Amino acid sequence: MRLCRFNDKHVGVVIDDHVYDITELLTDIPRPSWPYPPQDWLIASMLTEHARLAATLAELHNAPGSRFPRIKLADLTLQAPVANPGKIIGAPVNYRAHIDEANADEQISYSRAIGTLEDHGLFLKANTALIGPDGEIELPFPDRRTDHEVELGVIIGQPARRVTRDEAMQHVFGYCVALDITVRGKEFPGFRKSPDTFAVIGPWVTTADEIANPNALDLALSVNGEMRQQSNTQHLILNVERLIEYASAMYTLMPGDVIMTGTPAGVGPIEPGDLLEATVDGLGQLVVSVAQSRD
Ligand code: MN
Repeated sequence: MRLCRFNDKHVGVVIDDHVYDITELLTDIPRPSWPYPPQDWLIASMLTEHARLAATLAELHNAPGSRFPRIKLADLTLQAPVANPGKIIGAPVNYRAHIDEANADEQISYSRAIGTLEDHGLFLKANTALIGPDGEIELPFPDRRTDHEVELGVIIGQPARRVTRDEAMQHVFGYCVALDITVRGKEFPGFRKSPDTFAVIGPWVTTADEIANPNALDLALSVNGEMRQQSNTQHLILNVERLIEYASAMYTLMPGDVIMTGTPAGVGPIEPGDLLEATVDGLGQLVVSVAQSRD
């Protein structure tokens, strides 16, 4: 299933080049009350609603459009497929070739030796940084280098605390394309990677059952049509299972949490007016532009 969000409160299922609006299916699912659990309501609801949704999806595949409003993908604007992730976790250096390019580039390393992921640990991006395909990346420091990083995004489905790599995949809801936009500099990653609009996910979430092996997916990013990053998740140093094990030893992972798994080589600066097109095999294409300068 490819689950998307559009028109703010609408939930859709993407089939080929159409979206089926299944929002009405969700109206009788209980909504949380304050104090809210630190998770995404929709993704958490999938735990209990999955059987019902699966039946609906089978129906949709057999007789498309029979019951639900059907809209062309091209005629709507998608939003971040997870509305309220409790946290957005990043893996800073998880591809060898990116570690090598970082160490070779003074504007990335700032004379620090960039070691392995386990030397650096993980970082968190603020929830307020989240945007989807309907958003635009805004640069808070236009005179500083700000880079694109295309990544495989993992969406957690079930709470995970101290799970082993062998148990990890049971906790995955699905996958999406992710951009971990980053200001280069000496500050902590939690500062440089958390400005508004710096966590881009989309175009939808593809559920885990449709992805046979998340550790063997081509990923790529172009800027204004020019290819900048091209790799495969087989080169992840900590693969998806090991990242979940590592992250869940530190944080309880909650439904809707996003893990950005790290970027391959080829990172580079973006500028106002740029158009970024990011793809991960089987997960669709995430297109987002960098806002025009306002001065
Ligand atoms: Mn990154």
